[in-house]
Amino acid sequence: MSMMFYSPGWELAVDSPGSGELLITTVTDSTATGTVTDEKWYRAYYGSQVVQFLAAVTARALCDIAGRVGHEDLPAFLTPDVARGLLPTLQKAVLLTLAGSDRYERVFPDDGRAPAEPLCIRCHKGSFFPYLAISSEWCEQFGHRAFGTSLERWEEAHEAYRLNREGWKRTETRRRESRKSPQLRLPDASGGGEE
Ligand SMILES: [Zn+2]
Repeated sequence: MSMMFYSPGWELAVDSPGSGELLITTVTDSTATGTVTDEKWYRAYYGSQVVQFLAAVTARALCDIAGRVGHEDLPAFLTPDVARGLLPTLQKAVLLTLAGSDRYERVFPDDGRAPAEPLCIRCHKGSFFPYLAISSEWCEQFGHRAFGTSLERWEEAHEAYRLNREGWKRTETRRRESRKSPQLRLPDASGGGEE
């Protein structure tokens, strides 16, 4: 699932998460978000160039003179201030570019969304995209290994997921109820505080 990232003056496109391709362009005609330059600047970075670009922008943000992306220098308009503005969005776009949607969504979960089920790092069992799952002799023999957890057994990862999901459901139910009947939340006469 492709994703666009926006930072004032910039658009970053990850058309195919996990493919190692990052497209970045300046926005020169926006009055809403502001611009960083009048120059239309567009680059497509692949694989190691993606990381070189991130390293160069980070160096520029830290006022280091280093700012080389492969054979090419960063553009002059990418000043330390501009680099600092771009960096948080660029980091997220780079992670999606390299790690793919399944891992990205698990390290940057959407607010209020149900926790994602465990993802096997070898065979992709539990993926948002079931067609990605492959058969793994290793998994068949030794079991699956969940991404982003110290829990080594698949069953433990699923148990932790079950508890997380129950907690999330309780929070959601409370949130929905308090939205439905705000009058019930008026402070009572005894002046009791929050539960
Ligand atoms: Zn597996």
